[in-house]
Amino acid sequence: MSATDPHVPHDHTHCVSTALDTAEEVCARGGARLTPLRKRVLELVWQSHKPLGAYDILETLSREDGRRAAPPTVYRALDFLLEQGLVHRIASLNAFIGCAHPERAHEGQFLICRNCRIAVELDQPLIHRAISDSAAGLGFAVEAETVEITGLCARCKAAA
Ligand SMILES: [Zn+2]
Ligand SMILES: [Zn+2]
Ligand SMILES: [Zn+2]
Repeated sequence: MSATDPHVPHDHTHCVSTALDTAEEVCARGGARLTPLRKRVLELVWQSHKPLGAYDILETLSREDGRRAAPPTVYRALDFLLEQGLVHRIASLNAFIGCAHPERAHEGQFLICRNCRIAVELDQPLIHRAISDSAAGLGFAVEAETVEITGLCARCKAAA
Protein backbone atom coordinates (compact mmCIF):
# COMPACT_ATOMS: atom_id res chain seq x y z
CA MET A 1 0.00 0.00 0.00
CA SER A 2 1.56 3.30 -1.04
CA ALA A 3 -1.28 5.72 -0.33
CA THR A 4 -0.02 9.10 0.78
CA ASP A 5 -1.92 10.49 3.73
CA PRO A 6 -3.68 13.74 2.78
CA HIS A 7 -4.26 14.47 6.48
CA VAL A 8 -0.60 15.35 6.84
CA PRO A 9 -0.16 19.09 6.11
CA HIS A 10 1.30 19.54 2.66
CA ASP A 11 1.50 22.00 -0.21
CA HIS A 12 -1.83 21.19 -1.84
CA THR A 13 -1.17 23.47 -4.82
CA HIS A 14 1.44 20.86 -5.74
CA CYS A 15 -1.23 18.08 -5.69
CA VAL A 16 -3.43 20.22 -7.95
CA SER A 17 -0.74 21.16 -10.46
CA THR A 18 0.54 17.57 -10.62
CA ALA A 19 -3.02 16.29 -11.18
CA LEU A 20 -3.65 18.80 -13.98
CA ASP A 21 -0.32 18.01 -15.67
CA THR A 22 -1.00 14.27 -15.45
CA ALA A 23 -4.50 14.85 -16.87
CA GLU A 24 -3.00 16.67 -19.88
CA GLU A 25 -0.65 13.72 -20.49
CA VAL A 26 -3.33 11.04 -20.06
CA CYS A 27 -5.70 12.84 -22.44
CA ALA A 28 -2.99 13.60 -25.01
CA ARG A 29 -1.90 9.96 -25.02
CA GLY A 30 -5.48 8.71 -25.36
CA GLY A 31 -6.37 11.27 -28.02
CA ALA A 32 -9.04 12.80 -25.74
CA ARG A 33 -9.64 16.52 -25.56
CA LEU A 34 -9.22 18.18 -22.17
CA THR A 35 -11.26 21.31 -22.93
CA PRO A 36 -10.89 24.37 -20.66
CA LEU A 37 -14.22 23.50 -18.98
CA ARG A 38 -13.25 19.86 -18.36
CA LYS A 39 -9.94 21.04 -16.96
CA ARG A 40 -11.64 23.61 -14.74
CA VAL A 41 -14.07 20.98 -13.41
CA LEU A 42 -11.13 18.67 -12.65
CA GLU A 43 -9.39 21.54 -10.85
CA LEU A 44 -12.51 22.12 -8.75
CA VAL A 45 -12.74 18.42 -7.85
CA TRP A 46 -9.10 18.67 -6.75
CA GLN A 47 -9.66 21.74 -4.57
CA SER A 48 -9.35 19.45 -1.55
CA HIS A 49 -9.04 15.77 -0.65
CA LYS A 50 -12.74 15.67 0.19
CA PRO A 51 -15.18 14.30 -2.36
CA LEU A 52 -17.10 17.13 -4.05
CA GLY A 53 -20.69 16.97 -5.28
CA ALA A 54 -21.75 18.02 -8.78
CA TYR A 55 -23.94 20.67 -7.18
CA ASP A 56 -20.93 22.31 -5.48
CA ILE A 57 -19.11 22.38 -8.81
CA LEU A 58 -22.13 24.00 -10.48
CA GLU A 59 -22.33 26.62 -7.74
CA THR A 60 -18.68 27.59 -8.08
CA LEU A 61 -18.79 27.75 -11.88
CA SER A 62 -21.93 29.87 -11.74
CA ARG A 63 -20.32 32.25 -9.27
CA GLU A 64 -17.25 32.60 -11.47
CA ASP A 65 -19.19 33.20 -14.67
CA GLY A 66 -21.79 35.42 -13.11
CA ARG A 67 -24.46 33.30 -14.75
CA ARG A 68 -25.96 29.91 -14.09
CA ALA A 69 -23.79 27.10 -15.47
CA ALA A 70 -25.85 24.47 -17.31
CA PRO A 71 -26.08 21.24 -15.25
CA PRO A 72 -25.79 18.94 -18.31
CA THR A 73 -22.50 20.62 -19.25
CA VAL A 74 -21.05 19.89 -15.83
CA TYR A 75 -22.38 16.31 -15.80
CA ARG A 76 -20.90 15.70 -19.25
CA ALA A 77 -17.54 17.05 -18.07
CA LEU A 78 -17.67 14.75 -15.02
CA ASP A 79 -18.57 11.77 -17.24
CA PHE A 80 -15.57 12.55 -19.40
CA LEU A 81 -13.28 12.75 -16.36
CA LEU A 82 -14.67 9.42 -15.08
CA GLU A 83 -14.10 7.76 -18.47
CA GLN A 84 -10.51 8.97 -18.52
CA GLY A 85 -9.98 7.67 -14.99
CA LEU A 86 -9.14 11.18 -13.77
CA VAL A 87 -11.78 11.12 -11.04
CA HIS A 88 -13.61 8.44 -9.06
CA ARG A 89 -17.26 8.59 -8.06
CA ILE A 90 -18.01 8.01 -4.38
CA ALA A 91 -21.53 6.63 -4.52
CA SER A 92 -22.24 6.82 -0.78
CA LEU A 93 -21.64 10.59 -0.87
CA ASN A 94 -22.86 11.14 -4.42
CA ALA A 95 -19.60 13.00 -4.97
CA PHE A 96 -16.38 12.93 -6.95
CA ILE A 97 -12.73 12.80 -5.98
CA GLY A 98 -9.60 13.28 -8.05
CA CYS A 99 -7.46 10.25 -8.78
CA ALA A 100 -3.73 10.62 -8.20
CA HIS A 101 -2.82 7.70 -10.47
CA PRO A 102 -4.95 7.98 -13.62
CA GLU A 103 -2.04 6.87 -15.80
CA ARG A 104 -2.62 3.23 -14.90
CA ALA A 105 -6.00 1.48 -14.91
CA HIS A 106 -7.22 0.47 -11.45
CA GLU A 107 -10.30 0.07 -9.33
CA GLY A 108 -10.74 2.52 -6.51
CA GLN A 109 -10.78 1.64 -2.82
CA PHE A 110 -11.43 4.48 -0.41
CA LEU A 111 -11.21 5.07 3.31
CA ILE A 112 -13.74 7.85 3.95
CA CYS A 113 -13.72 9.74 7.25
CA ARG A 114 -17.29 10.45 8.33
CA ASN A 115 -16.12 13.44 10.38
CA CYS A 116 -13.72 15.48 8.21
CA ARG A 117 -14.90 13.81 4.96
CA ILE A 118 -11.38 13.32 3.65
CA ALA A 119 -11.18 10.26 1.42
CA VAL A 120 -7.93 8.34 1.04
CA GLU A 121 -7.50 6.14 -1.99
CA LEU A 122 -5.83 2.81 -1.30
CA ASP A 123 -3.59 1.09 -3.78
CA GLN A 124 -4.30 -2.51 -2.90
CA PRO A 125 -4.52 -4.95 -5.85
CA LEU A 126 -5.21 -7.84 -3.46
CA ILE A 127 -8.66 -6.39 -2.62
CA HIS A 128 -9.44 -6.14 -6.32
CA ARG A 129 -8.29 -9.71 -6.90
CA ALA A 130 -10.38 -11.05 -4.02
CA ILE A 131 -13.48 -9.32 -5.42
CA SER A 132 -12.79 -10.54 -8.98
CA ASP A 133 -12.22 -14.12 -7.84
CA SER A 134 -15.35 -14.19 -5.67
CA ALA A 135 -17.48 -12.67 -8.42
CA ALA A 136 -16.09 -15.06 -11.04
CA GLY A 137 -16.82 -17.98 -8.73
CA LEU A 138 -20.48 -16.94 -8.81
CA GLY A 139 -20.47 -16.30 -12.55
CA PHE A 140 -21.03 -12.63 -11.87
CA ALA A 141 -19.77 -10.09 -14.44
CA VAL A 142 -18.40 -7.04 -12.62
CA GLU A 143 -19.05 -3.77 -14.45
CA ALA A 144 -18.12 -1.20 -11.87
CA GLU A 145 -16.19 -1.59 -8.68
CA THR A 146 -15.53 1.06 -6.08
CA VAL A 147 -14.97 -0.06 -2.51
CA GLU A 148 -16.01 2.55 0.05
CA ILE A 149 -15.04 2.11 3.68
CA THR A 150 -16.50 4.60 6.16
CA GLY A 151 -15.04 5.40 9.57
CA LEU A 152 -12.86 7.84 11.47
CA CYS A 153 -9.40 8.86 10.28
CA ALA A 154 -6.50 8.76 12.76
CA ARG A 155 -6.67 12.50 13.31
CA CYS A 156 -10.42 12.66 13.98
CA LYS A 157 -10.23 9.53 16.15
CA ALA A 158 -7.53 11.15 18.29
CA ALA A 159 -9.64 14.32 18.65
CA ALA A 160 -12.81 12.42 19.56
ZN1 LIG B 1 -3.12 17.68 -1.48
ZN1 LIG C 1 -7.67 6.14 -8.51
ZN1 LIG D 1 -11.17 12.68 9.67
